[in-house]
Amino acid sequence: MSGELYLTDSEKMAVARAEAEKGAAEGGIPIGAALFAADGTLLGAGRNRRVQDDDAAMHAETNAFHNAGRQRSYRDTVMVTTLSPCWYCSGLVRQFGIGRVVVGDDQSFLGGQEWLAENGVEVTVLNDPGLIAMMGEFIHTHPRLWNEDIGED
Ligand SMILES: [Zn+2]
Repeated sequence: MSGELYLTDSEKMAVARAEAEKGAAEGGIPIGAALFAADGTLLGAGRNRRVQDDDAAMHAETNAFHNAGRQRSYRDTVMVTTLSPCWYCSGLVRQFGIGRVVVGDDQSFLGGQEWLAENGVEVTVLNDPGLIAMMGEFIHTHPRLWNEDIGED
């Protein structure tokens, strides 16, 4: 993968989707994300690890951010996530000044993406039918785990 560039939103989302599918295969919550440099270089990919690592802090976006290591600036980076970023992950985007967010599905869950857009982050929503179906199926079959992940009692 050295030197490989992910130029389109669709190519970038395929990386996040593959992470979500890995998470599902591990028995986890099927949400994936990836952070890219402006030229399309993949900096880091990750997935929700609540179940796998017993770690509520590792959402897909935070795991991708973690795996990207230290970056000098996030202004020109793109966070691609299969599901609308929750408030926690939206806060990460604001804190580190990530310039652009690409959302695969905002129908299954709506987090802080409108707040991000109001604050100068470029937000693109794909609403990919396959991703919406994957998340909808998970929420339907694992309601307690889903509510735990989004902090609903
Ligand atoms: Zn989150």
